[in-house]
Amino acid sequence: MSALLELDGVARHYRVSGGLLGLRHGLVRAVDGVSLSLPPGESLGLVGESGCGKSTLARLILGLEPLDAGTIRFQGRDIRDWPQTELRRQMQMVFQDPYSSLNPRLSVGSIVSEPLEIHGIGTAAERKAKTLSLLRTVGLDADMARRYPHQLSGGQRQRVAVARALALGPALVVCDEPVSALDVSIQAQVLLLLQDLRERLGLTYLFISHDLAVVGQVCERIAVMYLGRVVETAPAAALINEPKHPYAKALLSAVPVPDPGHARSREHLVGEPPSPLNPPAGCPFNPRCPQVMDICRRDFPPAFDTGEARQANCWLHAPARQGE
Ligand code: ADP
Ligand code: MG
Repeated sequence: MSALLELDGVARHYRVSGGLLGLRHGLVRAVDGVSLSLPPGESLGLVGESGCGKSTLARLILGLEPLDAGTIRFQGRDIRDWPQTELRRQMQMVFQDPYSSLNPRLSVGSIVSEPLEIHGIGTAAERKAKTLSLLRTVGLDADMARRYPHQLSGGQRQRVAVARALALGPALVVCDEPVSALDVSIQAQVLLLLQDLRERLGLTYLFISHDLAVVGQVCERIAVMYLGRVVETAPAAALINEPKHPYAKALLSAVPVPDPGHARSREHLVGEPPSPLNPPAGCPFNPRCPQVMDICRRDFPPAFDTGEARQANCWLHAPARQGE
C-alpha cells in the first residue's frame, strides 16, 4: 500500500546570531535529513530527548514552516502543491499544553466548532449538532460546551483539543507530546482515548514523545531521533525488547522496569546531547556512545537493515561487521 505520508531527506536549519553584538552567526541543524514513511492507519511514534528536532519536524509536516531540503509528500502529492485549506482539513495537530493551545476567551463549544466555521461547513444548527457529537466522541458531556478552558481539568482540556482536531475529519493527526503535561493517571486515560479513536475513525498518527514508555503504549512502529536525525526505526515491540542502536538502548534503560527481578542492564547516557549548532562529525551520537569506533567519528552511518522491517543508522550494524 502506498504511504499516506512520506518524508525524504527533510531538513530545517535555523540561522541564529550570538555573541555580544549578535555578530556571531551559526546554523542550528534542528532537522537534518529525515526520511520516514507512514502507511495509512499506522501509528508511528517519534521519540528522542528534548531538543532533538521532533516539534520542528511536526511543524514541517503540517506545512507551518518551509523546508530547507528534502520533500514531504502527503497522499502522494508534495505538500507545497497542496492548497493550505485542503491540507488543514486533512492534517491536524494536538499539542502538549492544551492550556495555551485553547483560546481562553472561547467556550468549549466555540473552540470545537471554530474549524467548521472557518471552513464554512454546514449550517449553524448542523455545526452545533456536530460539535455535540464530537464532544461525545472524546468522552465529554454535552453541557461541557458552555464551559471555558479554565473551568476544565487538564485531561478534559486535552479531550477538547482532540475534539477540535477531529472536527474536519482529518486523515493524519500529529500529536506532539499530547500527554506530557498531564498527571500519570490522566495520561493513561487520554492514551486509551487516542488509541480508541484511531481504531474507530481509521486515523493515522504521528505520535511524538520524549517518553519511550508512552510511545510504546500507542504505536505500532517507533522512530528514534537524535540531533535532527532518525537513528533507528523498528516495530514497537521489537525496538523495546531489543533496541539495536546504542542510543535507543540508552533511552530504553532510562524507562523504569515494573519487575525489578528482570532489571535491564542500565546503559546510562553520559553527558548532555551535543548542540545542534555544532554537531560532531560522523555519527552525531559518537561522543556519548559506549561502543564508539574510529569510523563513527568520520562518517555518518547510512540505514542498515537490522532485522525484519527494522533499520539502524549505526556502524555496528554494517554488513561487513556482522558475524565478527
Ligand atoms: P524537540 O521538540 O525535540 O524538543 P525542537 O524541534 O523544538 O526539539 O528543537 C530542535 C532544535 O532546534 C533545538 O536546538 C531548538 O533550540 C532549535 N530551534 C527550534 N526552533 C527554532 C527557531 N525558531 N529558531 C532557532 N532555533 C530553533
Ligand atoms: Mg518539542
